[in-house]
Amino acid sequence: MTGRILLSAPDVGELEEAYVVEALRSGWVAPAGPAVDAFEREVAARAGVAHAVAVSSGTAGLHLALLASGVGPGQVVLVPTLTFAATANAVAYTGAEPVFVDCDPETGNIDPSLVESALDGKVGAVMPVDLFGACADYSLLEPLCADRGIPLIEDAAESLGSTLEGRPAGSFGRAAVVSFNGNKIMTTSGGGMLLTDDAALASRCRHLSTQAREPVPHYEHREIGYNYRLSNILAALGRAQLSRLDEMIARRRVLREAYAKVFASTDGVSLLGVDDGANCWLTSIVVASDRAGWQAADLAGHLAAADIETRPIFKPMHLQPVFADARAVLTGAAQRLFGEGLTLPSGSVLTDADTQRIIDCITDFLEKNR
Ligand SMILES: *Cc1c(COP(=O)(O)O)cnc(C)c1O
Repeated sequence: MTGRILLSAPDVGELEEAYVVEALRSGWVAPAGPAVDAFEREVAARAGVAHAVAVSSGTAGLHLALLASGVGPGQVVLVPTLTFAATANAVAYTGAEPVFVDCDPETGNIDPSLVESALDGKVGAVMPVDLFGACADYSLLEPLCADRGIPLIEDAAESLGSTLEGRPAGSFGRAAVVSFNGNKIMTTSGGGMLLTDDAALASRCRHLSTQAREPVPHYEHREIGYNYRLSNILAALGRAQLSRLDEMIARRRVLREAYAKVFASTDGVSLLGVDDGANCWLTSIVVASDRAGWQAADLAGHLAAADIETRPIFKPMHLQPVFADARAVLTGAAQRLFGEGLTLPSGSVLTDADTQRIIDCITDFLEKNR
């Protein structure tokens, strides 16, 4: 046994180093520059959209997308309860309130029929999340929102490189936001990008991201802006990562397939979500303990003893103390996934030997708990 195996460690090497050094030597050590421009063009092309605005984080991008869609105090935004806090926090920043919507038990993604039941006059936007990389059900969500003229914003923080029925993640709704945080499918160490086909929305977000500074020689400001730009050095790192995105997705897929195989004959254990078109960012299992005879936490303990990191599936937002007073539309599905789920090491940086070590450890556990 050698070293700790992490859930989703950054996968950076010599190519990233070369790109960062080149950017440093070019003198563009600022939140603007040729690497930012190129990175925006390349991510837009990858997601199949016309415009991209690089930002300092995915959370910042979601905040801007909501603001530019007119979301503010007195409104609500429908978001999944099964997500990372950033989705709901971005809503709170605008002064609107998140309403938490439960998920489809098979995929963990927001349940479109519950969204439909919650669409009233106060809804300023709907913001689905592509959980663990697999796209939400946009074939139902897009028409639901379009028919009522409600903006749909795709929280694609986890799903860059995924597709749904041939359409790339990042291309759904009025705007989408990807994240380049350190644990995501690709990283700039911290960063994000807003993606849209709407030129006016893109330029509005770019304006807000640069302290809402007016395009005149002196400093002129007509409204409150934000400092949400991405550094040129980090954009260079992102360009190197983007050139390796398909390779990194393929690596994560190999891990997911290994997990599918090792649990294939274990009653009561299933993989969360679909593989089809997904970038396989994180692979989670769901354990029905009455059939399996053990609980997700038992396997987590066994892996932790071997220095292998796992994590429960997101604790739903409606159960978070900070959102205790928020409205929610619930079936119990997200809470069940929180109780029965376990996310397994999924990083593209894991070697064949690491993978074998994890699989051997799981096999050992399954034999002891048969
Ligand atoms: C990571 C993440 C974010 C936030 O992205 P940052 O770049 O970390 O700000 C938002 N939503 C979801 C679903 C995420 O997983």
